[in-house]
Amino acid sequence: MPELPEVESVRLGLQRHVSARRFSHVQVFHPRAARRHLAGAEDFAAALTGGQVGDVRRRGKYLWLTVGDDALLAHLGMSGQLLVGDPDAPFGPHLRARFTFDDAGPDLRFVDQRTFGHLMFDPGGAELPAVIKHIAPDPLESVFDDERFSARVRARHTGIKRALLDQSLISGVGNIYADEALWRAQLHWARGTDALRRADVTRLLAAVRDVFAEAIQAGGTSFDSLYVRVNGESGYFDRSLAVYGREGEPCPTCGAPVVREKFMNRSSYSCPKCQRRPRRGRW
Ligand SMILES: [Zn+2]
Repeated sequence: MPELPEVESVRLGLQRHVSARRFSHVQVFHPRAARRHLAGAEDFAAALTGGQVGDVRRRGKYLWLTVGDDALLAHLGMSGQLLVGDPDAPFGPHLRARFTFDDAGPDLRFVDQRTFGHLMFDPGGAELPAVIKHIAPDPLESVFDDERFSARVRARHTGIKRALLDQSLISGVGNIYADEALWRAQLHWARGTDALRRADVTRLLAAVRDVFAEAIQAGGTSFDSLYVRVNGESGYFDRSLAVYGREGEPCPTCGAPVVREKFMNRSSYSCPKCQRRPRRGRW
């Protein structure tokens, strides 16, 4: 599932290839692609046709193209891809929506094998679409408040990884980058947030930002080959993952074998030496 660095890589590609261009034709091929647009797919297409794309913005795992004062919001879900390419290329089986431009240049295609992703037209949403106002800022946004995050996390009675995945506290962090950041900060995922010191949270935020920056540099992590950048290429940060998906392999710091444990129907990967399991207050 794409996390912040993957969505940011897509955003950068869209900013480069789609910004300042005008939609000439909008087609929705699958009703699920525009299911959250309650007025229906035809209304969605009509609202965007003729609109000129401005900036491409992001909060957490959501990105949106500004179109005047409005927004075209996209959530990639599990397998959504936004691809910019040859407008004459044949349509693939998972093409859900297509946008052509009045310059007859490369088109924009929303391809989604598992159809968990969606597109939405959000009137007046250019600054911040209404449907994502409840989502906390992500740690790469200038409005993210480190002090406030630290205070809120330490006031919770939960585990630190659960807090990192809580989109009302911090957005954009999913399972992969939570494990990587916790490893870098040398914090075990089950540590209770109420026992964390301020310095722990500061170190963790720095680790989240570092791992995000490196992953964006690498074009994101293509873990299941469904995530690709707008040109269809994979990201290659999976080669740089220290613990995620590396059960039994040596920790890059100390050489101890990485362990995998069950966590909320998924897995948590950590180093048993660098990230000491808490004796009590486990989550
Ligand atoms: Zn280690």
